[in-house]
Amino acid sequence: MLRVVTLPITPADGNGEFDRSFVTLFTPFVADIVAKDLMVKPTIMLNIVGMKSDVSGKSSESQMREYLGCLNRLGIAADAFNDAHDDYESYFGNLVTKLLKERKIISEAKQMVWCKCGRIEMPVEVANSILYTARHKTLLTGEDLASAVCKKCGSKLETSVDEVQLFRLQPARINVFPPIYREELQAIIKRLTDNGLIISRLHRAAHCCFDIDFRWSGFVNYIAKSNDEVVIVSSPTTLNQAARVILFTKMIEPSINIRLIVHPLLRVQDGGVVLSKMSISEFFYGIRNSLRSAYAVSNRSTMGFVRKHHSF
Ligand SMILES: [Zn+2]
Repeated sequence: MLRVVTLPITPADGNGEFDRSFVTLFTPFVADIVAKDLMVKPTIMLNIVGMKSDVSGKSSESQMREYLGCLNRLGIAADAFNDAHDDYESYFGNLVTKLLKERKIISEAKQMVWCKCGRIEMPVEVANSILYTARHKTLLTGEDLASAVCKKCGSKLETSVDEVQLFRLQPARINVFPPIYREELQAIIKRLTDNGLIISRLHRAAHCCFDIDFRWSGFVNYIAKSNDEVVIVSSPTTLNQAARVILFTKMIEPSINIRLIVHPLLRVQDGGVVLSKMSISEFFYGIRNSLRSAYAVSNRSTMGFVRKHHSF
């Protein structure tokens, strides 16, 4: 069977209704174009477990339904799965048992640093290298380990020797289109396979003791069967995750033929005034409102829209 999939999407980040940028709809949109061209339905995997606490008071399931409702309104009828489902939970549990048995997941004592909220949890040497190179895309900030704090919770780092779980990915060739990403992917593969990935999370309050990214890394194996063809559609900003998923899939089931399509990056060039900050809900309301004034859409259909919008 042929499947066109996106990497797992987090439907909302919990700060309010659909507060993700409307640009995040672009990957499912391209996946839908590819799927239609291949005459199949796209498959969307939703990362619900990774969603931060929801201050809008909505359950993760209702946020997921709202997101799927948005896709539906764009004419994208996708097969949707989510990682919070009981079925995925038992699949993941069995997978971990299998990997432990095959010694692909091993335990190792490591000197770790971690913060109060648990978002920072890494080996001392990794923290040192982040601080030394003053990397921006990290929650860790400071001059050195003694003064470093977590940007999220503001706490200083604690140190302990922990028994961590390491997972070793094996290198594999990645079939990518367009080929300009080959070199970058090779560097990513080297980075992912040179050292084991720490997949345990011992200092987070959440119930899951595994890294969220590891939890969904095997999602293709959950969706596809042996000898299936899978096309992953990804943004160039998520090559790291794409490579992780592909190597993982091939380790678990080498007969799955998997290809990667990288779509162009959508950047909104508007001087940062309105469009580039527009969330998904503002995007839909904005279109509707501008059409209402332009074409005097009747009150009745506007009410219908509002009602529909709130009742996914
Ligand atoms: Zn923290």
